[in-house]
Amino acid sequence: MSHAKSAPSQPSAASRSEPSLPADAVCFRRVGANYVVETRRRGLDVYREPLLNKGSAFTLAERRALGLEALLPGTPKSMAQQVQRVHAQLRLRSAPIDQYLELSALQDRNEHLFYRVLRDHLAELMPIVYTPTVGEATQRFSELFRRGRGVWLNPGHRGRIREVLAQSLRPDVRLIVATDNESILGIGDQGAGGMAIAIGKLTLYCATAGIHPSHTLPISLDVGTDNPALLESPDYLGWCQPRLRGDAYFDFLDEFVAAIQELYPRALLQWEDLRNDIALRVLDRYHKVLPSFNDDIEGTGAVTVAGVLSAARVSGTLIRDQRFVIFGGGAAGLGIARQLRELLVVEGCPPEEARARIAVLDSRGLIAEHAPPGAAYKLDLALPAAALAHYRLAAGAGLAEVVGRFQPHALIGTSGVPGAFAEDLVTGLCRAHARPLILPLSNPTSLCEASPANLLRWSRGQAIVATGSPFEPVVYEGRTRPIGQGNNVFIFPGLGLGAIASQAPTVTAPMFYAAARALATAVSESELAEGLIYPRIGRLPDVAQSVAAEVAKIGARTTGVDAQAELQKLRWEPAYPEIRAVG
Ligand code: NAD
Repeated sequence: MSHAKSAPSQPSAASRSEPSLPADAVCFRRVGANYVVETRRRGLDVYREPLLNKGSAFTLAERRALGLEALLPGTPKSMAQQVQRVHAQLRLRSAPIDQYLELSALQDRNEHLFYRVLRDHLAELMPIVYTPTVGEATQRFSELFRRGRGVWLNPGHRGRIREVLAQSLRPDVRLIVATDNESILGIGDQGAGGMAIAIGKLTLYCATAGIHPSHTLPISLDVGTDNPALLESPDYLGWCQPRLRGDAYFDFLDEFVAAIQELYPRALLQWEDLRNDIALRVLDRYHKVLPSFNDDIEGTGAVTVAGVLSAARVSGTLIRDQRFVIFGGGAAGLGIARQLRELLVVEGCPPEEARARIAVLDSRGLIAEHAPPGAAYKLDLALPAAALAHYRLAAGAGLAEVVGRFQPHALIGTSGVPGAFAEDLVTGLCRAHARPLILPLSNPTSLCEASPANLLRWSRGQAIVATGSPFEPVVYEGRTRPIGQGNNVFIFPGLGLGAIASQAPTVTAPMFYAAARALATAVSESELAEGLIYPRIGRLPDVAQSVAAEVAKIGARTTGVDAQAELQKLRWEPAYPEIRAVG
């Protein structure tokens, strides 16, 4: 594949002007952490707009002024009463996917209430709006589809992408999650269904970092699918063609990126679920063109670094003396290896030695220097020849052999191979280290490399464990051990908010490192004592603010903006705004 054309350049100052509001403007005016809305809309046009609708919480005065009196029963209720009612309705649905649909319907009806419910029941509802349930929603997207959300772009829009994008009618987008749907959550190419992930991630940005939903936009880059089941299905809703590849794919992306720069010059772009080799090329191509990052690679790296930092507080082992085995040399494995290397160097390990402290395996075994790497990016993961000789290892060595010889302090799973971390591997690690760190990160739950219950049993409670998917607490020797989730959700909301607040033109490695440190610092002594190396999920909103503050400080070093003031300005809580009828 040759890509002779160069990527689009930074927008000119002239194209950075504010986009104008649509004719029947919904005008948001900030008052502290909340805002007042002035609208020219009336009646059903208010009721059907999810950012205006309050349902039964419209006051009698609002109903009269906005022409809503006929549409609602007579007694207004508070938001707290609505939250209780919605929560009770959710409890009537036992299947997680039914709860997901119920919540999606609420999001499409009344966004403030949706976010209030989510915030008030975050730990309970995270597995519904995000992993693992969102995985099922992705796979069953065409079957379950009710209403579009976000923007759909497909090859039929070539030459008109800016025009189609503008149909979203969102005047001040600051945060975009764009997916081409090819490499999703360990379940591969899901075609148009990938939109559910982009929606889910932005939902978490709003619910945890407190970014106003009107600043966010999920985008499906529906360039086709190579999933035969979808191509053959008469029900498939997406672009029913094989994927765009090569120059045609990058031409499509170039036009998309140029349109983003023009319409949303202040937006941060998160690339989501791209295939690993494409993800790297996309990062290289657009990294300096607009503020952008790849959560699957860079977010995963940062959340793992945070786990390693927290685990070192428990084990007492100096980071610069540690060795790591990463089982799964794809997008996640690459991000983790790169950021662990930087961590080792920051902690005082010489760069060459840092390379020799990280062994990565893919489906062909140990990735080693001077062996054919398979994909070009794997050169970056190869164990140097001197380390191979030192540990008596060869290219292609299997996991048991690598762990036995390399004796890592941490074993990290990003392979999607269920059961790969077997009992003898774990007992071997425990002979080498008093408190080994084991992170089976693969999602969904069914693909996890080992269950936390087994890891704790095999290691006699010695292993420090966190998983990618949520797990129930494990009772080990009469003690209940909660299982921490090494999930990117601890990084990306705060990272995104910090990047937006600082108006950083690029998202840099020091910003990820700052995010990882802030996350590790946020883990309390009592959480560590319980065996957690990540905070409890319910603390996410506070954690996101801490992460954002540290990231914004780094970003502001280049832009000089008052990042703390910007963070304050962006802060949003899911409470109803006062709505004033104007015009
Ligand atoms: P990917 O497809 O890019 O990479 C998967 C890697 O696993 C490839 O290098 C492949 O060669 C390797 N692999 C496959 N079979 C193997 C085998 N039998 N032995 C050794 N290696 C094998 O996927 P990805 O985006 O890197 O994601 C990998 C997994 O990590 C997924 O399950 C994903 O859900 C999970 N993940 C978790 C988090 C998190 O929880 N924080 C973040 C990102 C990814």
